[in-house]
Amino acid sequence: MKILVHYHEIALKGANRPFFIERLARNLEHALYDLGRARVQRLAGRLIVEISEDVPPPAIQERIAAVFGVANFAQAVETARDIDALKADTVARVAGLSARSFRVTTKRADKTFPLMSSEIDRILGGVIQNATGWSVDLDRPERTIFVEVLRDRILIALEKNPGPGGFPVGSSGRVVCLLSGGIDSPVAAWRLMKRGCSVVFVHFHAFPLVDRATIEKTRRLAQRLAYFQYRSRLLLVPFAPVQQQIVASCPSSLRVVLYRRFMVRIAEALARRLHSKALVTGESLGQVASQTLDNMAVIDDVSRMPILRPLVGMDKEEIVREARRIGTFDTSTIPDMDCCQLFVPRRPATAARLHEAQEAEAALDVADLVGTAAGAVEEERFFFPLESRSCSAVTGEASRE
Ligand code: ATP
Ligand code: MG
Repeated sequence: MKILVHYHEIALKGANRPFFIERLARNLEHALYDLGRARVQRLAGRLIVEISEDVPPPAIQERIAAVFGVANFAQAVETARDIDALKADTVARVAGLSARSFRVTTKRADKTFPLMSSEIDRILGGVIQNATGWSVDLDRPERTIFVEVLRDRILIALEKNPGPGGFPVGSSGRVVCLLSGGIDSPVAAWRLMKRGCSVVFVHFHAFPLVDRATIEKTRRLAQRLAYFQYRSRLLLVPFAPVQQQIVASCPSSLRVVLYRRFMVRIAEALARRLHSKALVTGESLGQVASQTLDNMAVIDDVSRMPILRPLVGMDKEEIVREARRIGTFDTSTIPDMDCCQLFVPRRPATAARLHEAQEAEAALDVADLVGTAAGAVEEERFFFPLESRSCSAVTGEASRE
């Protein structure tokens, strides 16, 4: 079976274009790996995925609909580059289908074809009308028959499915996402994947002060999110020693902000090791007392890397909807005890001041705490499809340098 895949042309102009397209083609191959070893042909302005006829189309559709960079896709048949062959194959293709109205939309990738697009539309429209009795409706057709004239063949497609848009994962560099086990951070990670980033996850856990429930949640989230980027790395950082120091030596109202400042420092140290370019969090302005502009500024103060907050302007309901759509919500809402809920006062500071945070930290050996935590990281890897672990094509995230 053949699937015609389009990407957004305009977004991919410029010198990076071949790189984007190659990445998209490889991602399509990965996404379909376990279903039947898809082969992707690179043609002018489009891709064709070839996969065994035995694979159920809904399974293929579901996978391709999650591949970032795909603008739309359609199951297609190929015919010879000849108007009579095109007529015969189109009629064969629409036979048995029902519709009240239709139109034909032709695109010529090869302008040397003797007929203009509009002429093909008209000729084919007449033939289909005769064969089916459907009426032509150019504005609001029930069905559109898409015809694409290429250099060596013509493609006929009946139904276009929308893709997720965005850029192919792996085409925009690597970022490190602070993944908490809550609802927001998985959505933040997904948004960066959609912009083409490979996302490495860092989770700070308070085991053994709390049980392993949160760690288990982040594992499940990392596995789910591998669905969109084919492999995920999860870095588990023991955070209890840092928290215990903060609790012992700093004012209680600053605890949450200080936890965050340490998380960011440690995450940045890990990000540098991984040649990552930015940090990502699931913070959204005003959502909880700790997520005020003042606090964000005090947190940003410790990072020399940009901290991306893709959810900053979203309402909780919007985030929840997105979490459900990407399949992380049910895991995120499993009850647990996140490390940030430990030793938190009833009234955390909503407008921490930088000098207060700095003074509080003067009582701590910051470099030692950060270095020790970053040195005690445990890494786990997750793959999608699960079988792709043994796939030699999965060779780590591409980078443009
Ligand atoms: P989330 O639903 O992502 O947990 P939240 O609304 O609960 O977000 P906070 O708990 O204030 O908000 O956390 C804000 C952000 O800080 C999170 O989105 C996440 O990026 C980061 N973060 C918080 N706790 C942790 C943790 N234990 N490990 C890694 N990152 C964390
Ligand atoms: Mg949280």
